[in-house]
Amino acid sequence: MAPNIVITAEDLKDAIQKDQLVLYYQPEMTADGSRMECVEALVRWQDPERGLVPPRLFIPLAEKSGLIKELGAWVVRRACRDGARWRDVKIAINVSPIQFRDPGFFDFVKTTADAAGLPFNRLEIEVTEGAYFDNIDWAIQELRKFRTLGMSVALDDFGTGYAALTYLRKLPFSKVKIDKSFVDECQIIGSAAIIHAVVALSRALGLKVTAEGVETPEQQRFLRAAGCHFLQGYLFSKPVPAEDITASLEGERRKAC
Ligand code: C2E
Ligand code: CA
Ligand code: CA
Repeated sequence: MAPNIVITAEDLKDAIQKDQLVLYYQPEMTADGSRMECVEALVRWQDPERGLVPPRLFIPLAEKSGLIKELGAWVVRRACRDGARWRDVKIAINVSPIQFRDPGFFDFVKTTADAAGLPFNRLEIEVTEGAYFDNIDWAIQELRKFRTLGMSVALDDFGTGYAALTYLRKLPFSKVKIDKSFVDECQIIGSAAIIHAVVALSRALGLKVTAEGVETPEQQRFLRAAGCHFLQGYLFSKPVPAEDITASLEGERRKAC
């Protein structure tokens, strides 16, 4: 898509109404790369003129214009519907801080998963520190509701903000996702030390750890040895349409038989 195309809130509203959004899914693999543990839903906009528009070009606009609620609701509905067709794999949904702060959000997710026939323990929500930094007590209470139903809660992009390590203990997360920027530099002593520390702390707190943006076998070897449970990145798969996940899961199942 040409970089100089301007997208307005009206365009985006139109796209939602015309059902032009699509979900791609990117696997999170076990650290040895043998099994798909989870697939993360990543939204794109299939525009007839602009082509496949990446989320960095419209999620910030959706957040600013308030359209994120409508867009986010669409993502939850579609991801639950796709996820219900698969077995033995979790579905992770990115939740913007604005969506998370909506008092009706938890009930909406619960009702939608239920209606789609997606078992709660196969649903994961990914939040960033923006979801909780201004109201920790409220966030703890909300996140507990998801955990009580059996859903997983991942802290996304860990290490990119100012999140104090103590929040890992205070908030009821089940997983930490280490940001790609650390993975990119994992051969450098400082970044390697941070990864080791985050994995040790997370494991001590009973949390799972996923490293994001894994692109090379060397990074996989390092992150696996460091104790990450799951790895995600182009080394294993780019985000792909739902049909490709269906095919990969069938392939995994055939291999297991
Ligand atoms: P994110 O949640 O951190 O997602 C990971 C991004 O890194 C994805 O970009 C993915 O395609 C990319 N990525 C994964 N592995 C690699 C790798 O090995 N190398 C490189 N270079 N990139 C990799 P994508 O799909 O463009 O999404 C960008 C961001 O947009 C996401 O970052 C997330 O913050 C946001 N986003 C995507 N879908 C949704 C959604 O449904 N709702 C909300 N609120 N945000 C979304
Ligand atoms: Ca994410
Ligand atoms: Ca991330």
